[in-house]
Amino acid sequence: MPEVRVRFAPSPTGSLHVGGARTAMYNALYARRFGGRFVLRIEDTDADRLREGAYDAIVDGLRWLGLRWDEGPDVGGPYGPYRQSERGERHRAYARALAARGYAYPCFCTPEELEEARRRAREEHRPPAYDGRCRRLGANERAALEAAGRPAALRLDVARVWGSDQPVVVQDRVRGEVRFDLSSIDDFVILKSNGTAAYNFAVVCDDVDMRISHVIRADEHLSNTPKQLLVYRALGVEPPQFAHIPMVLAADRSKLSKRHGATGVEEFRRQGYLPQALANYLALLGWSFPDERELFSLDEAAQVFDLDRVGSGATVYDVRKLTWMNGVYLRALPADELVRLAVPFLAEAGLLAEDPPAEYVRAVVLLVRERAHTLREVAEGASYFFLDVASYDPKGVEKHFAPPGAIERLSAALEAFAASDYSAQGLEKALDEHPAVRSAGTRAPFIHAVRLAVSGRTVGPGLFELVALLGRERTEARLRAAIAAIREGRVAALAEADGEGVSAGAGGGGRR
Ligand code: GLU
Repeated sequence: MPEVRVRFAPSPTGSLHVGGARTAMYNALYARRFGGRFVLRIEDTDADRLREGAYDAIVDGLRWLGLRWDEGPDVGGPYGPYRQSERGERHRAYARALAARGYAYPCFCTPEELEEARRRAREEHRPPAYDGRCRRLGANERAALEAAGRPAALRLDVARVWGSDQPVVVQDRVRGEVRFDLSSIDDFVILKSNGTAAYNFAVVCDDVDMRISHVIRADEHLSNTPKQLLVYRALGVEPPQFAHIPMVLAADRSKLSKRHGATGVEEFRRQGYLPQALANYLALLGWSFPDERELFSLDEAAQVFDLDRVGSGATVYDVRKLTWMNGVYLRALPADELVRLAVPFLAEAGLLAEDPPAEYVRAVVLLVRERAHTLREVAEGASYFFLDVASYDPKGVEKHFAPPGAIERLSAALEAFAASDYSAQGLEKALDEHPAVRSAGTRAPFIHAVRLAVSGRTVGPGLFELVALLGRERTEARLRAAIAAIREGRVAALAEADGEGVSAGAGGGGRR
């Protein structure tokens, strides 16, 4: 069996999209599974479409996801250069060789002439295929046009290359046998008049030069494959195996796009997703583990990955499942690592401005992680440990501050806690034993009111752990502030406030 050599060949036209990341991953997994090499090739021939910074974004995104390549622009390799724009000489040499063998011919048609021909074809309800007029030029006509300095592109002489009217058949590892009628393929340009290779030609030249054995790429390239097979035939090179992996669709089954929320790897990173979780999720987007397990590492997938478990139907991208998965990975992280990863998110949320002690930050992160799915949610859940409570959840106010007895409940908690040692257990015991709680027969309304007073929220970590961590000073200040706000009829205003510029004055020593 020839050596397995696969490639990911992004065009640096934008950020790394989840679909592209998945394609790269399947290539990487395939190479690792079969002891092959994974090549990164940058397809930057089409200068008009290039975007500044896109190369870095792609490379950073792939690395962040944990993918590594054996050959590429940054790491080099025996078949470089790995930027397509630097391979123009190779493309031209291949094109000239095909022309010399009569498999390609010069086309002198101007863009205006071609447009006119397409317009006429549309009018006559014919497919807008090239009509082959320059193939029929006589040697003298050709020489005259050349002598006149008319710029010429090179076109593949499809009928000559294929040599029959049999359809072009793609044997696809995922899609099975796909036939393309020869009549659907016109004499396409392989080398533009400016000397740069056309897309379908450059891809094949590079895949040939780089000894690519398996082309694993997005489904949208299936329609390019018959043209590429013709180029292989013309070059006299055995084509690689093809595997076209299905599109990623949004939940509404339309093509996944910006309007469906985050679709770029960098966006997920900024939202606090973990690379292990995103990688796991992307691996499942079109492939399944042999034992159908859902949670696995890339290392585990690389032991078993094969194309036969890649489905041929479109796969639906479901951010809720990704988010669930991320929560699972988040909770499984070693404490030190979680803290290290969460700190930049806390800083970005403005929570670390006062440089709080590292042990406090650590304790907060570990306490709030239970309810968080992403690092950003860790920061959101942690905010009141660092900032004053500036507003109260409006529904919470209605339920826990508005009914009669709220002030008494908060006062009872204040009193009970004051006599405790402020350990979680001590706080719990003190509250349970307070006469007001005993006579009420349930501590639930006390707990709800206290939570709202000290955090501004109705949900969060276990109340006694929360209060213990918050500490005596802040807790007492916040309970007093809530009591005062209720007494003075200010809670409604604080409930409406969005947190900007309003303060319940419950800082307990201000920001920490
Ligand atoms: N450059 C193409 C893209 O970014 C990939 C071409 C290929 O894999 O053959 O979609």
